Amino acid sequence: MTSVFLNGEFMPMAEAKISPMDRGFLFGDGIYEVIPSYAGRCVGFLPHMQRMQEGLQAIGMPLPMDVTAFKIVIDRLISDNGSGNLGVYIHVSRGTDTKRNHAFPLNIPQTVFAFTFAIPTEPVADKSEVKGYKVISAQDLRWKRCQVKSTSLLGNVMHYQQGQNAGVNETILYNAQGFLTEASACNVFVVKDNLILTPPLDNQLLPGITRLMLIDILKHDNKLKFVERAVHMDEVKAADEIWLTSSSKEIAPVIELDGQPVGDGKVGDMWLAVQALFSLYKYNY
Ligand code: PLP
Repeated sequence: MTSVFLNGEFMPMAEAKISPMDRGFLFGDGIYEVIPSYAGRCVGFLPHMQRMQEGLQAIGMPLPMDVTAFKIVIDRLISDNGSGNLGVYIHVSRGTDTKRNHAFPLNIPQTVFAFTFAIPTEPVADKSEVKGYKVISAQDLRWKRCQVKSTSLLGNVMHYQQGQNAGVNETILYNAQGFLTEASACNVFVVKDNLILTPPLDNQLLPGITRLMLIDILKHDNKLKFVERAVHMDEVKAADEIWLTSSSKEIAPVIELDGQPVGDGKVGDMWLAVQALFSLYKYNY
């Protein structure tokens, strides 16, 4: 039985109940995080907490408990749920109001919910083991605050489903000017002539923690050429390699875009090099 945390208490999932008047349910008025953990070790705990704090601040909410208290809750959930390959989901909503009113309510306790779910085994830098992703591209039709990790995910859900309906794994998104933003649940990197590119952070994409860690690792390693700049979809289509990054996937190679092979249609050598670097350093964050 999955053990979860809800508003200060640990309990079996079946016993966790919230009111339908919770603003997370009515408005998607909340912030969430997903932190991967393997054999009891979290990857990127502090940057994930930092992003959650920034997201809460962006929507006018305080951190409901301090980072040390969150760590205690997360460690307990990981251990109660078997300490295997687990994603830790944390969700903070603005709380349960008495009426459905758009205006922020005053002085109501936030709802804090956390649970774990099984994730695949730790990714390894091995071409024979990694899954090559197939993706389509589509114009980004989400809102203009994509830097906020909001629980209002309908825009992302619609784009993810677009990919599912097309029989592929993900949907890569571009803005009205034809520039890459991100994917429905991942950030995107491309490689051309051994140069690694990714779009800079702004309101069009989530500041992914895997993205942040990978960029930091690339800069410290200082062997591979990397530039953060606007990337046009023409460059994405002509790329030698495309990668999707997210906490559960780490760096996932894309082998097909809109029905066409990416590069030679096989997992690339640059992917192998960066996933190896990521595996080596990821527990430093
Ligand atoms: N972009 C979007 C829209 C996402 O939902 C996610 C992860 O859920 C990411 C990027 C990758 O973020 P992270 O590396 O922090 O998992």
